[in-house]
Amino acid sequence: MSPKQRYSKRVSLFTESVIREMTRVNNMYDGINLAQGFPDFDPPRPLIEAAKDALDGGFNQYAITWGAPSLRQALAEKFGWYNGVEIDPERHITIACGGTEAMLSAMLATVDPGDEIIVFEPFYENYGPDTLLCQGKPVYVQLYERGDEFVFDDDELRRAFSGKTKAIVINTPHNPTGKVFSRAELETIGELCQEYDALAITDEPYEHILYDGETHCSIASLPGMGERTITINSVSKTYSVTGWRVGWCIALDEGITTGIRRAHDFVTVGAAAPLQEAAAVGLRFPQSYYDELAAGYVERRDTMLSILGEMGFDYVTPKGAYYVMTHYPDCGFEDENEFSIFLSSEIGVTPVPGRAFYHRAEMGKPYIRFAFPKTPETFARVRERLSRLAEFRR
Ligand code: GLN
Repeated sequence: MSPKQRYSKRVSLFTESVIREMTRVNNMYDGINLAQGFPDFDPPRPLIEAAKDALDGGFNQYAITWGAPSLRQALAEKFGWYNGVEIDPERHITIACGGTEAMLSAMLATVDPGDEIIVFEPFYENYGPDTLLCQGKPVYVQLYERGDEFVFDDDELRRAFSGKTKAIVINTPHNPTGKVFSRAELETIGELCQEYDALAITDEPYEHILYDGETHCSIASLPGMGERTITINSVSKTYSVTGWRVGWCIALDEGITTGIRRAHDFVTVGAAAPLQEAAAVGLRFPQSYYDELAAGYVERRDTMLSILGEMGFDYVTPKGAYYVMTHYPDCGFEDENEFSIFLSSEIGVTPVPGRAFYHRAEMGKPYIRFAFPKTPETFARVRERLSRLAEFRR
């Protein structure tokens, strides 16, 4: 008998995360990690205190599988005032282990083998593999660089929809491009969802990180979309706690929530109980917290862009989130992957090569991505290191 392949066909359809691989590359060269997007500053003090209080206060056993009541209550209140949708904490929320598990559980709950899932490209790495793990088929719709923004073509989007479409994934503000989907764009998408009886599965972790007067719109708040949307989010970015792994799915269709809770229950049982208690405290922070968060990111974005401008990078200005997609100077390298490895090993600053965000590597060739949730000290070191690029330019 010939030896059996030890891993399943569905797992053979994708590889490990390039973003996290670049973190390992970075650590090998002791570089500055602008690859994986996480803050190098502390979360708000009251949040850390709340986590300690929860540990001391007896919250050390399983929470209810679909989430601690305190967190679901706080989340329902915040979703009402910020996202403009009234929800019931008993019937519409599933707390999961970060947005990552939330997305997988949402798809496990809704996608059947052969179902098509529309994904805008460039994309955040997870959506394709999540679809493939559910034996669905990703269908990609391009976001084209036009002027200083990324846009989709309405006709291409329409052609991507069919009777086989189960859902479209919408990530706004968008990783990696920094695009913020406008209300009009979301209306176009929503109309197609209704025409083809498709779901919208959204990923909105950067909803408070906005620049240049942009505002966040959740497609769940648009007419006709409440019942056909799964809104996914987490505490990771809004409260600078990417390691806590507390996220959620909000679905107003109770059948969908039942499905998500079933999948989630058997995937992880539940998110860390004490951190759910602490997250509830964060979700009750006043408006001023979010204003300060956004103001801090304006400063970080502007610093990052000024460094890139000085060093001759031709970037696309992010309107939200904390990444910048940029072209890179000609230093004689074959492609963006070689350039990224060079930047990490020789210059000591690690980006993500564009291929991480496209289903065919060559499509990512024009781009690299930098993450900028960093302190002024880190930016000073980045500036100093990148200035050495001048020696290598053609
Ligand atoms: N969302 C972050 C990024 O895009 C972190 C990715 C991850 O490792 N989960 O870099």
